[in-house]
Amino acid sequence: MDKCSFCGRTKKEANLLIAGLEGHICDHCIEQAHNILQEELGNKSSFSLDSIKLRKPDEIKNFLDQYVIGQDRAKKILSVAVYNHYKRLMQKHESDDVEIEKSNIILVGETGTGKTLLARTIARMLHVPFTIVDATVLTEAGYVGEDIESLLTRLLQSADYDVKAAEKGIVFIDELDKIARKGDNPSITRDVSGEGVQQGLLKLLEGSVVNVPPQGGRKHPEQKMIPVDTKNILFICGGAFEGIEKKIAHRLNTAVVGYNASRTRDHYDKDDLLKYIAPQDLRAYGLIPEIIGRLPVLTHLSPLDRQALRAILTEPKNSITKQYIKLLAMDGIELTFTPEALDYIVDKAIEFKLGARGLRAICEAIMIDAMFELPSGNLQEFTVNPDYAARKLERVDMQVLKAS
Ligand code: ADP
Repeated sequence: MDKCSFCGRTKKEANLLIAGLEGHICDHCIEQAHNILQEELGNKSSFSLDSIKLRKPDEIKNFLDQYVIGQDRAKKILSVAVYNHYKRLMQKHESDDVEIEKSNIILVGETGTGKTLLARTIARMLHVPFTIVDATVLTEAGYVGEDIESLLTRLLQSADYDVKAAEKGIVFIDELDKIARKGDNPSITRDVSGEGVQQGLLKLLEGSVVNVPPQGGRKHPEQKMIPVDTKNILFICGGAFEGIEKKIAHRLNTAVVGYNASRTRDHYDKDDLLKYIAPQDLRAYGLIPEIIGRLPVLTHLSPLDRQALRAILTEPKNSITKQYIKLLAMDGIELTFTPEALDYIVDKAIEFKLGARGLRAICEAIMIDAMFELPSGNLQEFTVNPDYAARKLERVDMQVLKAS
């Protein structure tokens, strides 16, 4: 009778018995062996710097170009910063005293202009652990909300608890502007969501060993903390910094009056003042100087115009329309969007101020019926024209799309 060669369970006693060349193994023993293996290998990291595919800045930018439309300046600055960051990791610690400093990055731009997309695309290219956290959930230790350390919990999770890998990962901190100090007066009474959080964050940005709760939060007081060194973690921060244009304009105007009168205000592109952003504007907005000092690479993202929105629909490697085309192609259906239909979608996104994020929501609303019906129909071709799109959008509350 067949039985497990390890524990002796018979075929009846085991759920599963797998035959080998000269014996059998049951599901219990497979599981046990797996656990032993995990324990043995558990503390060994499979991560090494060699596994990072490092590309030159122009190659990094070319890669970004495949997924992100426009934002050339930001792409260029980001490419150099990321390249230097990884060169810094690879430098040999010899007697040479030129120490390359960490180049954490801050991206300023309206929401939906591609800040997260840029960070995500970089991580995808480098194959390093990556996580996105929202600064608004962070509060100072002891207050309601998440501790600063929880930000590293997510990174650890995305690295499958491989600490060595996490220590070379990328953390994208979104909505950094929300932890700016409210008001210009630094001495206002304790500002739970502002300066205290910035102080906490500073510790991570500077590079220190932080005890990270593996499950996050304070709900598991018994959990064993995992020490994580943040020295080599690249932090990319993003924020809309709504209203910062005023601070920029104020600074530019003062400078004009001050000592360079020949450069009149008219020289500045008033529609895109963000491109003149400088560290002192972040300070005026309410970031503490120490934080600004730890985010040495500052760049901006421009608002997306009609042309950019149109390009987002079709050009990126995994653009929204390409995804629908691929999905239906798997059912043997050739899907086409007419150029007029694409223009129509962009018009709607602009009309309802939905931005790039809204493009997807609009497409979803237009496509849902087709995606439901076509796979079981017998059409082999399907064309989305403005008429069809308008009919499908008629019944949709555009304000709801805005929220999605
Ligand atoms: P945010 O600046 O608020 O972080 P996101 O990067 O999350 O904006 O952008 C939201 C979505 O809009 C993205 O997932 C992407 O589909 C689209 N998008 C925004 N900007 C761009 C861009 N420059 N190129 C391509 N797609 C973009």
